[in-house]
Amino acid sequence: MNVVCIFAHQDDEMRCLGTLQRLAEAGHSISFVCVTNGNKGLPFEQAGSSEQRDNSERAAQVREAEMRTVAGHFDGSYECLGYDDGVLFDGPELRNKLIAVLRRLDAELVFTHWTSEYNDDHVVTAKAVTDAALFTNLASFVPQTPPLESVPRIFYVNPGDGYGFEATHFVALSDLHVQRKAELIRCHASQMEVMRQLRGHDYADEMADEDRRQGARLMVAAAESFRPCLAERRIGWPSDLPGELPAATVNPA
Ligand SMILES: [Zn+2]
Repeated sequence: MNVVCIFAHQDDEMRCLGTLQRLAEAGHSISFVCVTNGNKGLPFEQAGSSEQRDNSERAAQVREAEMRTVAGHFDGSYECLGYDDGVLFDGPELRNKLIAVLRRLDAELVFTHWTSEYNDDHVVTAKAVTDAALFTNLASFVPQTPPLESVPRIFYVNPGDGYGFEATHFVALSDLHVQRKAELIRCHASQMEVMRQLRGHDYADEMADEDRRQGARLMVAAAESFRPCLAERRIGWPSDLPGELPAATVNPA
């Protein structure tokens, strides 16, 4: 199965890195796509317009290298759609780029942001990815790339409390998955530094706490949680639940 993570920024995949390990162990291929280049992701060391421009370019380079390191641990590809960080808007170009990349990667399962949360780049990405995925099997969209046979299933990652996210699907993680997840998150060294300056701890610490909390709901050590996209009947049955009824049991005489 081809698993494609499409998030707004380099490091947003932290909310499914345990599940990605589980999927990789099961032999599935993992690819990463970021919609923005993350160029606002480093604090300015000095004020001034030329310094800001330099910082922006450096931020994008640093974050690309960090994201490639994470992708490399999964033997996965990484590509960036190149939009500026923090000012993402939906539109025909973004939709078409998303349709093209989902087709090129032959996406079968997609992880992306929940559709309502704290960062508007995330919200725009969630909506655009959902709508683009629903068009991947329609040949009239982006006709220069061949359509997928069926639209990929979409799972939204848990954005944390306060955004109306009620998880329906849980993936248990071992101690080793949790440890490895922290190591992978810390590949985004620049973002960990920003977080430590802001909050006194980093994202790896925060995700470990969250995964223990989700795990406690299932009486396991740690878990990640998700919701499937239910927006459209063209999306196939979630694989974790019983699918279609056997023909013989439908409308029995
Ligand atoms: Zn983000």
